[in-house]
Formats: sequence, structure tokens, C-alpha cells
Amino acid sequence: MRHALSIEKDIREKPTTGPWKEYEPAGTAAATCSCGFATGTIATAEASRLARAHLDELKTPRADAT
Ligand SMILES: [Zn+2]
Repeated sequence: MRHALSIEKDIREKPTTGPWKEYEPAGTAAATCSCGFATGTIATAEASRLARAHLDELKTPRADAT
């Protein structure tokens, strides 16, 4: 099983008085992996933590691994 993990951070449009658009981090993100792992949209820090935990889990050999 290949794991290609990615974290997509959300942005939101900032209120501005100018004729342009500004964006800022929304503070939420979603981590997904090609293996089917997905956190859904949660706080960015939590998404990072779960993504790291997912990768750590892969490094640990399991007794029941096939
Ligand atoms: Zn994975």
C-alpha cells in the first residue's frame, strides 16, 4: 500500500475596502492519504498532528500485518 499524504489548508476571503480580493488562512485543514485515510476538515494544528500520527503508525511494524 502506497501512502501519499497531503494536507490542504483552507483559506477564506478577507474583508477589504479595496477593489481586490484578499485571502487569509481559515485556520482549518483536511489531511488525506492515498490509502483512504482522511481527517475531514478540522483545525490546522489537529490535521497536522493526525497526519504525523498516521505516518508514525506506518513506521511501526504490527504483529498482525499481512
Ligand atoms: Zn496512508
